[in-house]
Amino acid sequence: MSDDHLEDDLTSEQIGVLTEHLEKLREEIQDSLAAAREEAKPVDLGLSIGRITRVDALQQQQMAAARLRRIESRLAQVRAAEARLSSGNYGECVRCELPIGFARLQARPEAPFCARCQDSGPGATAGSRR
Ligand SMILES: [Zn+2]
Repeated sequence: MSDDHLEDDLTSEQIGVLTEHLEKLREEIQDSLAAAREEAKPVDLGLSIGRITRVDALQQQQMAAARLRRIESRLAQVRAAEARLSSGNYGECVRCELPIGFARLQARPEAPFCARCQDSGPGATAGSRR
């Protein structure tokens, strides 16, 4: 049996470790999501706050909304990774289908791409022009 995978497939032990990682990560993300949702709530621009405060409040709300979007997309990645776990193709790059590698998954258990696909940029996923 010869294959030229750069990374090995995950062992079931490694999958167990990563499953736990993912679970903890999802809980953490859900916590910060709840906090970010609270912050991103529309500010009450009542008459009681001055103009400067109002600008500040709007800026803070925009930052909170941007953070909320980042957290939501990370949660979506974690959920997608968990779905791949239950369908048995976790650890494969969703783009090139080669193993992502344990070391990389330990650092980012929700990673959908292998290092090479990730490096070719986020726009590369849709790019069929070349
Ligand atoms: Zn790949």
